[in-house]
Amino acid sequence: MTKTNYNIQKIRSDFPILSRKVYDKPLVYFDNAATTQKPRCVIDRVKEIYTLKNSNIHRGVHYLSSQLTEEHENARGTTREFIHAEHSHEIIFTGGTTDSINLVAYSFGEKYVHEGDEIIISEMEHHANIVPWQMLCEKKNAKLQIIPMNEQGELQLEEYKKLISEKTRLVAVTQTSNTLGTINDVKRIIDIAHQQDVPVLVDGAQSIQHTKVDVQEMDCDFFVFSGHKIYGPTGIGVLYGKEKWLSEMPPYRTGGEMIRNVSFDKTTFNELPFKFEAGTPNYTGVVGLEEALKYISQIGLDQINAHEKNLLQYANKKFNDIEGFTTYGTSSNKISVISFLLKDIHHYDIGMVLDKMGIAIRTGHHCTEPTIRHFNIEGTARASLALYNTTEEVHKLYEALLKVQKMFG
Ligand code: PMP
Repeated sequence: MTKTNYNIQKIRSDFPILSRKVYDKPLVYFDNAATTQKPRCVIDRVKEIYTLKNSNIHRGVHYLSSQLTEEHENARGTTREFIHAEHSHEIIFTGGTTDSINLVAYSFGEKYVHEGDEIIISEMEHHANIVPWQMLCEKKNAKLQIIPMNEQGELQLEEYKKLISEKTRLVAVTQTSNTLGTINDVKRIIDIAHQQDVPVLVDGAQSIQHTKVDVQEMDCDFFVFSGHKIYGPTGIGVLYGKEKWLSEMPPYRTGGEMIRNVSFDKTTFNELPFKFEAGTPNYTGVVGLEEALKYISQIGLDQINAHEKNLLQYANKKFNDIEGFTTYGTSSNKISVISFLLKDIHHYDIGMVLDKMGIAIRTGHHCTEPTIRHFNIEGTARASLALYNTTEEVHKLYEALLKVQKMFG
């Protein structure tokens, strides 16, 4: 294991929920791919807004409104920096990853996708990066093409190359699989698409909290993620889009804020980013997200990544010793997500028994039915590890799994 000077006890003490008990046992939280816990600084920042600063933003002339407007727009700047976008107006605040993808599918689709065109996604996508494209294709009479994966749960890029053609309008792929943990070579996927002038959307819901993202270096056309998966509030998310696309794309939701002038004859639209932010913004979510991004930056994503790699390595070593233990997603390049089954035991039973021992994991298809179907199974048990998890907790899971096996064996 790589040695790091990571202060795990300090980090754990930043997360109030981690010191609670469930069923009178210390909580072991391994459901981080579903949502992450919140550090005190995020909780306090949101509380501070409601306690002292609450006001509707952008349109008020009074003190509270202009103060909070400034904080909101500063948070856009912090988000820009975090993913290294070129301009702040390329950062659109949305309700989350799902909302961001729906925005692009609707708006990009409206303008650029026509009958006979094709959209490429992959076999390992979350439903949020399948269904919006499927519905767009149905509406436009276009076709969805799927990049297949191999038995390790890695995308087959030679097959991908064959799918790209002059009919392809967009490629939408996940940077990291929430079920298998695989980290895709998105840079290569983007290079291949760009050789044919095809834009690429990258789903960063499971990468943003684990690895450094630089959208300019990656050269993606769109990048989407959710606040709640990176230790921020729920109900807030980000769509990054290159200016050249966002400025050409038509509005998605319409109403207040996104307009320049309205008359009963005609409406003209606001400039970026406001053109895509109709209605009262989720300003508490936005500043809470900013606080989360600052918190992560202060620890350092390289440090977080090294810690999580150590945990994964330890977990792999322990769990592979368990008889009848199978991991789904065995790429050598993966995040700390372990999808598994124990021979002859239903994944739901594993989850239920672990829960009673205070260990929270997820069971089922993880909103990736096609991924699960690839392995001819109904679902998996999934432990997803985060920056505050410890080797002691992984060891607890190991011992708990031995107990589960004994109970059902
Ligand atoms: N894509 C991936 C890879 C995900 O893991 C998730 C959440 N599980 C989503 C998209 C959807 O995110 P949200 O529910 O926050 O919109």
